[in-house]
Amino acid sequence: MEKKPFVTLAQVEEMVKEYPTPFHLYDEKGIRENARRLQEAFAWNKGFREYFAVKATPNPFLMQILKEEGIGVDCSSYTELYLSDKVGFHGDEIMFSSNVTPEEDFRLAADLDAIINFDDITHLKFYEKLAPFRETMCCRYNPGGDFSIHNQIMDTPQDAKYGMTKAQIIEAFSYMKEKGVKHFGLHAFLASNTTTEAYYPKLAGILFQLAVELKQELGIHMAFVNLSGGVGVPYRPEEEPCDIMAIGEGVRKAYEEILIPEGMGDLAIYTELGRFMLAPYGCLVTKAIHEKHIYKEYIGVDACAANLMRPAVYGAYHHITVLGKEDAAADHVYDITGGLCENCDKFAIDRPLPEIAIGDYLIIHDTGAHGFSMGYNYNGKLRSAEILLKEDSSTRLIRRAETKEDYFATLDLEHGFTR
Ligand SMILES: *Cc1c(COP(=O)(O)O)cnc(C)c1O
Repeated sequence: MEKKPFVTLAQVEEMVKEYPTPFHLYDEKGIRENARRLQEAFAWNKGFREYFAVKATPNPFLMQILKEEGIGVDCSSYTELYLSDKVGFHGDEIMFSSNVTPEEDFRLAADLDAIINFDDITHLKFYEKLAPFRETMCCRYNPGGDFSIHNQIMDTPQDAKYGMTKAQIIEAFSYMKEKGVKHFGLHAFLASNTTTEAYYPKLAGILFQLAVELKQELGIHMAFVNLSGGVGVPYRPEEEPCDIMAIGEGVRKAYEEILIPEGMGDLAIYTELGRFMLAPYGCLVTKAIHEKHIYKEYIGVDACAANLMRPAVYGAYHHITVLGKEDAAADHVYDITGGLCENCDKFAIDRPLPEIAIGDYLIIHDTGAHGFSMGYNYNGKLRSAEILLKEDSSTRLIRRAETKEDYFATLDLEHGFTR
């Protein structure tokens, strides 16, 4: 599929009069339409709820848009909980899926009456010293072994630090039942950025089966299964987007085969998608500021890996469009680089693109999730602004760019440095 930016050169030329590059830009219309498609795909399940993984894009304006679409939040740290509270999420609208959890994080989760998803059996007693169990509690499952779909290994849960063994889940649930917990949830995250429509249905089958066993063995009420994140997006133009309707239907089939015969038709499906919710609806807008001709051809841009680390860290592909040259032939080959003192600071390597001139605006696609949020300050680089392209085509600054004062806020530069 051809990858088209959701913004034009003329629009960007207007934006940069107010907000200098680089900045992350988000498409409200795309976000809302996608959120509605997801809910439609699971509309057959009465209790369905998506809990947006806040770590993917922790911006309160975007969280507010998702809230308006009936979506909750999945948090894993104190600050994510704090931010969610500020946006107005509360109680059942918050899933707390953390690991290696500090006391104060559990305390805040309990104060907000969030649904707590225990990563480990030892966390139960750790938590009980801080707050009482609520009526509904959840545990994260790790089935061990390899996780494969159609004989292809997707990931290796046996090597993952997350979740509990089946024996531990049984022990945890019976302990919590004794302590008065009434409703139980199961969670697992077994593969990331999956592009197959078989992932959620396969995972659902595993969790539904376990839910049936737990109900039969312990006589408990299984309230929900949380399929967590992992549904991918097409970063490359030759990839097809996941058909979310087909995924929803696949999960429904497993539900009807496994749960309905057991009288468990009231079980709710939850998801904790991050990437699928926002990645395609954000982009990094950057300007070509240098060209360099040595053993290779380089274009230097005003963004760097500190604004988007996925290419540098994972070798991840992000598509690039040169604005205004959408239809020009890709007859030049460039490395597109940022200015960090790290040779991995390249947004693209040997990428065929139209001829780029200094001052051209480049769109780096699919940065709406795990983009800005993974940013860092290496080499004293400052975090960029985030801008929302609203449904009426106007723009709103939803996070200003960092200044040097922000960077130095943890230092006192005025009072000297002798001891
Ligand atoms: C990262 C994460 C997610 C979201 O993952 P995506 O790949 O962005 O969908 C959901 N749940 C948990 C517990 C996570 O750690």
